[in-house]
Amino acid sequence: MIESIQIKLLPEEVSDLVLIKKRLALEVGHNDFVFRWKKRSIDARKKRILINATFEVAKSESEFTPLKGFQPAKKLKGTVHIIGAGPAGLFAALRCIEFGLKPIVIERGKDVRARRRDLAKLNKEQIVNPESNYCFGEGGAGTYSDGKLYTRSKKRGDVDKTLALFVEFGAPKDILIDAHPHIGTNKLPQIIVDIREKILLHGGEVRFESKLTDIEIVSGKVSRIQINSEKWENVEELVLATGHSARDIFDLLHRHHIKLYAKPFALGVRVEHLQEFIDKIQYHGRVNDAFLPPSSYSLVTQVANKGVFSFCMCPGGIIAPCATEQEEVVTNGWSPSKRNNPYSNSGIVVTVSPDDFENSKDPMVCLDFQKSVERACWEAAGKTQEVPAQCLKDFIDRKVSKSFPRSSYQPGIVSVDLNTVLPKMIADRLRKAFLDFDKKMKGFVSNDAVLHAPESRTSSPIQIPRDRESFAHIEIKNLYPCAEGAGYAGGIISAAIDGMKVVEKIAEKSEQKIA
Ligand SMILES: Cc1cc2nc3c(=O)[nH]c(=O)nc-3n(C[C@H](O)[C@H](O)[C@H](O)COP(=O)(O)OP(=O)(O)OC[C@H]3O[C@@H](n4cnc5c(N)ncnc54)[C@H](O)[C@@H]3O)c2cc1C
Repeated sequence: MIESIQIKLLPEEVSDLVLIKKRLALEVGHNDFVFRWKKRSIDARKKRILINATFEVAKSESEFTPLKGFQPAKKLKGTVHIIGAGPAGLFAALRCIEFGLKPIVIERGKDVRARRRDLAKLNKEQIVNPESNYCFGEGGAGTYSDGKLYTRSKKRGDVDKTLALFVEFGAPKDILIDAHPHIGTNKLPQIIVDIREKILLHGGEVRFESKLTDIEIVSGKVSRIQINSEKWENVEELVLATGHSARDIFDLLHRHHIKLYAKPFALGVRVEHLQEFIDKIQYHGRVNDAFLPPSSYSLVTQVANKGVFSFCMCPGGIIAPCATEQEEVVTNGWSPSKRNNPYSNSGIVVTVSPDDFENSKDPMVCLDFQKSVERACWEAAGKTQEVPAQCLKDFIDRKVSKSFPRSSYQPGIVSVDLNTVLPKMIADRLRKAFLDFDKKMKGFVSNDAVLHAPESRTSSPIQIPRDRESFAHIEIKNLYPCAEGAGYAGGIISAAIDGMKVVEKIAEKSEQKIA
């Protein structure tokens, strides 16, 4: 029988297996057992930092349940077109193969390696390729990210299956036990390549530089799709996993009078501190400690009836230019697996809701607002990929910063009073929220921290509604709005889970047809 045992360890004790066995033996009452890690998290609330460690203890290794990996069907029959090769699209394709369905993945961007060259151009020459950037291309928006793999999803089975698949495709096993697992930008691309190769090996198709440009609807179903404004092809089932930045897809659906709703999202700035400073606060002065990972934070407050919160915090990370068009600027963050850059960055964002606008019933109302802020920031910083920036204390004092301590944002920053660029409803709340955060993390507000604007692609500003039971669009029977772009996921893990869930619904439907 497997027993689950929780103990507390000091950070320096975590890799001492002899000591761990002794401590577990005290709990078990004998020495005749094997053990493996189940979960670990850092408790840094008090000066004496502890690791909450949970182990599984059994009589022999064979008692431990092996990871349930990828289980391909022998034969594929019936096709599913999947638009988008982000986490949702790729995990949907894997699940298709498990259910004996042939996935055809259609991706507007380039393969993960070719994509890297476009990112270099974006960083160094300020050229945005609208088909290949930090949001578009193989692996989707999550490929060149921090690769944080935590989710608010409470469905442990789904999360565990997804993490197990990541491990099967090369992610470190630590992600199975860490409370806040992450992979890192340097490791994600190879994992994506391995997933693609597995899809191809088992009879799926993956096409790059292929953009969905139109659909034909006959009798309440999508009958054909058009690729790159040229070729049309027939479809049986269509999974739309195009992410929150595929604005042309929202336009396309709207043009076809397919129901869409505006949905709340969040918008603000990305703040950058020195990682050492964040460690000092979070680890009670313990910096450069070999036994502790670069620390993170999670902040939340309410200002004038709206949530203001930290988003996608990247310890030891870099701020990335995430625009998908030339005439806009967007920030987000990434980190390598070791999170060993000297900077820490995080989005600090304010909830935006359709009700904030007069035309709240217009499905495009939040998207239009998002676009207008991205464009205003682009104009304010000189119409390049440089972003408007301000030291944090100066932002609160409404003073244009005279100089900056540093910035990891490669295309460059331009000093601007962000209070004059960001909409008042955002700027006013951010100033108050920062003062609250400064109480929670002393020193958070200073001119050693730099704000970069905007952080705007937090989640989709549009919902593509689907039926609760079938997961198909409420009006179009074989169209499956999926994951982040449709408003059903936020982040890599939940997007991957939603991709798999949608395919399970399609498989259920085809089984019903056969029966
Ligand atoms: C820099 C950055 C860092 C991030 N860090 C993290 C993190 O650490 N942890 C985390 O959980 N999340 C992170 N995210 C968010 C995460 O990447 C997304 O939540 C996730 O990728 C959403 O998955 P998805 O499959 O729904 O959509 P996406 O990943 O956006 O994938 C959609 C795909 O569809 C393709 N596509 C779009 N339109 C078309 C079309 N017309 N035809 C064909 N293909 C099309 C796109 O090219 C893209 O590849 C980060 C995002 C960015 C940009």
